[in-house]
Amino acid sequence: MISETTSLSIVLPVYNEEENIEPLTTQIVQCLEQLKNPTEIIFIDDGSTDNSVEQMKAIQVKFPTRTFRIVQLDRNYGLSTAMAAGFKAARGDVIVTLDADLQNDPADIPKLLEQLPEYDAALGWRVDRKDTLIKKISSKIANFFRKKVLDDPIHDTGCSLKAYKATYIKRVKMFKGMHRFLGVLIAMEGGKITEVPVSHHPRKYGKSKYGFWNRLISPFLDLLAVRWMKKRAIRYEAKEVS
Ligand code: UDP
Ligand code: MG
Repeated sequence: MISETTSLSIVLPVYNEEENIEPLTTQIVQCLEQLKNPTEIIFIDDGSTDNSVEQMKAIQVKFPTRTFRIVQLDRNYGLSTAMAAGFKAARGDVIVTLDADLQNDPADIPKLLEQLPEYDAALGWRVDRKDTLIKKISSKIANFFRKKVLDDPIHDTGCSLKAYKATYIKRVKMFKGMHRFLGVLIAMEGGKITEVPVSHHPRKYGKSKYGFWNRLISPFLDLLAVRWMKKRAIRYEAKEVS
């Protein structure tokens, strides 16, 4: 378990989640009450067109003793960009990410933190996914290809609920689509990773932004790019002898 002095950054990527902001942050604040760590919560607004940003500002007023930061992207770029902006903005020693739609459960955050510092990243594994049938099927297909092409033992790569040592995740060069491969990318940076079973809930408010097609074609091309990176990664040991 991380020590009480380890600072935390909780990164929340948001694209049109106005109804989820208030209940989500209330749950996060409740969960933080059991932790003594200095913590900041960073909303990354990925170009929302609804009232998400107003909701974020209301949260800053509701919890004046907590540090809430709002980073606003000038338009919608997609989850990888939102995550990258979050990793860059984060000032904590440990960065926790989770979806802002309440599908991930903030109550699982301490379970992930328990795995640090022994591991450099703890990845949420949604053992009982609460998604639509079409999404479950497309995930199964994607996982099948990912495991074959990458020889990757990770069970659930798409779960946003993850905790990283900041020094490791900040080393990963982000590209569009890479939010689906952060576990393997951290491992490529020499990080020790572990998976932690977490709960998953159906989406109650708002709409999913990722369907069948936008999760199949370009993620497959991204997979080939990650395979290339994995094969061509530079790894060596050397010492200066004189
Ligand atoms: N999201 C984002 N930018 C986007 C699409 C999604 O920041 O362009 C956020 C979204 O608000 C949510 C998370 O990424 O917090 C996951 O999105 P979503 O729930 O739609 O994906 P799903 O769970 O359906 O795969
Ligand atoms: Mg979701």
